[in-house]
Amino acid sequence: MSTSADDQGRAPPAHPRTAREADVSSERGAVPDSANPDVVLVGGGIMSATLAALIGVVAPQWSVTVFESGADVAGESSGPWNNAGTGHAALCELNYTPAGPDGRVDPAKAVTINEQFQVSRQFWSHLVREGMTGSPKSFVTPVPHLSFVTGEDGRAYMRARHEALGAQPLFEGLEYTEDAAQLAEWLPLMMAGRDPRQTVAATRSTAGTDVNFGALTRLMLSDAEGRGVPVHCNQRVQHLERDTDGRWIVTVRDTVTGERRTVRTRFVFVGAGGGALPLLQRAGIPEIAGFGGFPVSGRFLRTTSPELVSSHQAKVYGQAAVGAPPMSLPHLDLRLIDGDHSLMFGPYAGFSPKFLKAGSLFDLPRSVRPDNLGSMLGVARTELALTRYLIRELMQSGSDRHQTLTHFVPD
Ligand SMILES: Cc1cc2nc3c(=O)[nH]c(=O)nc-3n(C[C@H](O)[C@H](O)[C@H](O)COP(=O)(O)OP(=O)(O)OC[C@H]3O[C@@H](n4cnc5c(N)ncnc54)[C@H](O)[C@@H]3O)c2cc1C
Repeated sequence: MSTSADDQGRAPPAHPRTAREADVSSERGAVPDSANPDVVLVGGGIMSATLAALIGVVAPQWSVTVFESGADVAGESSGPWNNAGTGHAALCELNYTPAGPDGRVDPAKAVTINEQFQVSRQFWSHLVREGMTGSPKSFVTPVPHLSFVTGEDGRAYMRARHEALGAQPLFEGLEYTEDAAQLAEWLPLMMAGRDPRQTVAATRSTAGTDVNFGALTRLMLSDAEGRGVPVHCNQRVQHLERDTDGRWIVTVRDTVTGERRTVRTRFVFVGAGGGALPLLQRAGIPEIAGFGGFPVSGRFLRTTSPELVSSHQAKVYGQAAVGAPPMSLPHLDLRLIDGDHSLMFGPYAGFSPKFLKAGSLFDLPRSVRPDNLGSMLGVARTELALTRYLIRELMQSGSDRHQTLTHFVPD
């Protein structure tokens, strides 16, 4: 949520403010470094870090404060092992290019996603040029992106997709093959031991990337700190309330000492990931009515075996099972984290009522309200295929999971 106390477009007061102007009320006295900032960023993940960097570029006179409930930043979804690190540019994710009833593929969605990724890259380039993030090698690495399918239907779809995307300037150089020998060169790990009679097809783009969102978060927040942005860890934002003058009163609790304080601000950005829903519900803003959580998590297998890693130097996305949500596309990813190379395979859906890794088992039950009960039950009713898929996933045994992996790595 981002909201302004001043809808008239008036310029904010210049930073830094004087101690006199600050109107912090704190149970433990004045907190000069985060007193009365123009902007409060809730959460220390990639979203808050990006906004801190953007504000540093376009409104450097604004004072900004970050509150993170964990002991460190980038500990939740943005942590490198809590996501697959795909720089989503629609080069390999088949959910952006579904086939129409006539089998044709509309490239529009993929083009939009790719354009958005190019904007991110331009922004990161700017940060690098301005010395705000150090070397790009510490957070983004070129890694080929491939899509891989099996069977006649898969091959027909892949041809149609390649035809549609290949004509787009942003996808120039996208290669296509259904030749097993070529695929064995591109994907030695995935082709070894595969039935030679199996129909296979793939596209490859060498423009793909692996992004370490955790490292990028740290770099951007560390740069922000250097510009005087306090990043407070172990500080949980408990409540947001709009004051009569339009400002937000932000109640923060120190998770170590239990002390509470309040900060007043003109803008609040809730970059709290899984913590956003409960916080926005407590804030009572009307826009949150109807939103609910789903008790699904994503789990991955991981290996650092040099033998396996050396024979899979790519990110490869397959097709989702029928009824599976787009985020469940199976993928086998090369990851480059802090100089170490490893492979991740997943996601497997898991059940978790926690909204954050460091969350509570009561997150889901506490989030159920009269205003979202209907939409939550509605998902179960209208998305029957999704519900069935999730139940199937949750019932999977270890050997079922292994079976899923063997579609990618037969040997
Ligand atoms: C399994 C999985 C795989 C993914 N793979 C990819 C991928 O390959 N490519 C890609 O681009 N994206 C991927 N994503 C998505 C991406 O990881 C997330 O969209 C992104 O990291 C979200 O960033 P965020 O800053 O919104 O949230 P987070 O990184 O979760 O940060 C939120 C922060 O807010 C803090 N917080 C929560 N509540 C409070 C509170 N009340 N007060 C103070 N702090 C609070 C949390 O502790 C946390 O540090 C994946 C996600 C998942 C789950």
